[in-house]
Amino acid sequence: MTEKSSEEQLLEFLYACPVGLIECDAAGEIAMMNPHAMQHLLPLAGTRDASNLFAALEQHAPELRSLCAAYTPAAGKICDGHRIFVDLGGGRGKTAPKVLACTMVKLGADRLMVTLSDISQQVAQEERLRQADTWFATLLDGVAEYAALSITPDGLITSANPGFTRQTGHDCATVIGQKLAEVLQTDPTGGDLRLEEQVEIAQRDGWHLQEGWQQRRNGGRYWCQRLVVARADDASSLPTGFSVVLRDVPRREAAAEDIRRLLTCDHLTGASNRRHFSQVMEREQAHWRELRHSLALVVLDLDHFKIVNDRYGHPVGDALLCKVAEACAALLPPRGIFARLGGEEFGALLPRFDLNQALNLAEDMRAAVADLCIDTPMGKLGATASFGCATLEEANGSIDALIALADRRLYAAKHSGRNQVHRPQARAA
Ligand code: GH3
Ligand code: MG
Ligand code: MG
Repeated sequence: MTEKSSEEQLLEFLYACPVGLIECDAAGEIAMMNPHAMQHLLPLAGTRDASNLFAALEQHAPELRSLCAAYTPAAGKICDGHRIFVDLGGGRGKTAPKVLACTMVKLGADRLMVTLSDISQQVAQEERLRQADTWFATLLDGVAEYAALSITPDGLITSANPGFTRQTGHDCATVIGQKLAEVLQTDPTGGDLRLEEQVEIAQRDGWHLQEGWQQRRNGGRYWCQRLVVARADDASSLPTGFSVVLRDVPRREAAAEDIRRLLTCDHLTGASNRRHFSQVMEREQAHWRELRHSLALVVLDLDHFKIVNDRYGHPVGDALLCKVAEACAALLPPRGIFARLGGEEFGALLPRFDLNQALNLAEDMRAAVADLCIDTPMGKLGATASFGCATLEEANGSIDALIALADRRLYAAKHSGRNQVHRPQARAA
């Protein structure tokens, strides 16, 4: 083999380059473009002339032509990361719009170098942050009086604003270093979560909001909206602390907690619903991409459940479903989430769990389900379930592939006789 010529090396570079590169003249006539640039440009050009940059982008970025024309220096950057929002027609609703960043550099009187790169994900992320910012700003601006505190991951107060004193009667200087849960005496009334439980959910979901009665220092009580938000450094997904905001709000008919439950929980079993589960999965997938902590999914399906309904009736079947959900959810780690994915099918998402840990937890769940026993008019009734586990690593980061793999393993467990956790061959030892 001969050595590659420098021209061949340049071509190789242009082909492999993950950014679209285009060389053109001052009128936009393209002399060279790499495959990446073609991928971006050709769909935008449509029926227009794709051999001219300005013509190809006429519909989406007509300003590029005038930016170039208005640039008088002999050489230099005409624009840097100029955003081109692409609407290819079909993108309405579900998918985020495609956004390209365009940088144009004038190399000489009649020579331009242009780069195009896809920054859609970055823009979508910015949009989400902007929405969250607006949300918090509205929350804080909309009330005359709010108490704001910072706590450590262990719940110790590190700061409290004067509003905290006015709202609760506790002195904001002397509470520093104390446990917030003890200062507030957050006894659950009705279905309210304790502060520690809210903190655990905020650790998993980023934030948690609920309403309930709150005691003042003098023993009186008020209706309080309590928001817990996790604070994390970029480098780690583990929160470095939490912000807690308390608002004295009028009690409304439909409290925030009811609405939250309605939106995120399954009506029968109280487990998370499928939609909420999907949202948490997407969030955990994003963490996984960034931090590569492992993420595991366990799916389970009750065995021969049709027979339960047929013999004992639907209400008994319902009661059994509730017991199963309760028994499995009780075994979850703090960041885990347990959901009803369909009729008698459930799923557990387990951040930071590798396959072996997931298999062990699934085995515990299997045993817990097999131990269940409910009284029915026709005598005692138990249940068993079959389990499949998989990790996002095995599914190459795809949620669809993760679900499909866990499902395949669940059905392998069914075929091997049910009431078992399928153990993938490679790990069986
Ligand atoms: P397998 O071991 O193969 O999973 O057998 P199976 O009988 O469980 O089979 P399949 O998954 O096809 O049947 C699920 C049954 O679950 C069918 C349906 O009647 C029942 N089911 C689904 N949703 C509910 C529900 O909300 N309440 C009750 N009681 N039963 C339900
Ligand atoms: Mg079944
Ligand atoms: Mg089923």
